[in-house]
Amino acid sequence: MNQQCWCGRDDLHAWNTEYTMCRSCGTLIDNTSEYNAAYVENFCNPLYDQDYWYKKMLQEYQKIGCKNFDDVILYHFRERAAYWMHYLLKHLLPPATVIEIGCGVGTFAYWLRQLGFDVTATELNPAWRSFVRKKLAIEVSDYQLSSSPENCARYDAVFMMDVFEHLANPLDMTAALCNELKEDGIIMLQMPQVPDDAEYSRLLEQKASFLRYLLPGEHVRLYTVLAARRLMMRAGFRYMLFYPSIFHDDMFFIASRRPLKYYDDDMIRQTVLANPHAVAAYAALENFRRLVAQTQKNA
Ligand SMILES: [Zn+2]
Repeated sequence: MNQQCWCGRDDLHAWNTEYTMCRSCGTLIDNTSEYNAAYVENFCNPLYDQDYWYKKMLQEYQKIGCKNFDDVILYHFRERAAYWMHYLLKHLLPPATVIEIGCGVGTFAYWLRQLGFDVTATELNPAWRSFVRKKLAIEVSDYQLSSSPENCARYDAVFMMDVFEHLANPLDMTAALCNELKEDGIIMLQMPQVPDDAEYSRLLEQKASFLRYLLPGEHVRLYTVLAARRLMMRAGFRYMLFYPSIFHDDMFFIASRRPLKYYDDDMIRQTVLANPHAVAAYAALENFRRLVAQTQKNA
């Protein structure tokens, strides 16, 4: 069993047979994984071989009606990629240099590039990188944290969407990402949210949807909002803004070392549409916003 939380406290208790909870910050720590110390960050966790996307993830998407990856890509464009873009542009406008750690099917990175961002997309598995590269004609690389000072402070934003819960050493990774960001750079994350005062037996009784996130060996750390706040603060991100998440049991936030910038809709539109290559991508986002507004009106 892991004897210490990322927060430094060793006041841990058995939450269920697979996870330990830190009494100080509420982080759930996977105590089963033989790869707990190896983790995803060093690219040697065999869980993330090519079957991870081709079999495991595809099976997950098939449960919601996607027959193949074409369906998954279109689903992501009309759902999470649009949602994330809507909120990102309020705080960061192109041109800017950004990196997505764990780009998945690549839709968010693709859209960012269409809007005029200089994007680095990364994924773990070489076969999967090759698939996304061919499918969306975007460059997808592996990701190595930079150790050379000249490569520091090169990004305006880092995105880790549905990735953070896979990291066993979150503080090291966040500190490393902080190093890669410009002083006023932002980090944007989406991850599962451990309910406050979560007792396993009560969640079972309630058949809580959060239980689907208990994936030992894969989701090796799960965070409360308090834990996420402390972790970001510890890594130097003093300014945090939480937005509603797409799924009610996730959290979605943007953090920075400097006060966040804010752009209104006119500013966003003017800036993006000044680039003739971004018009169609912006129109797609505008269509998404109108559809959401219409749906809310009809509700
Ligand atoms: Zn803790």
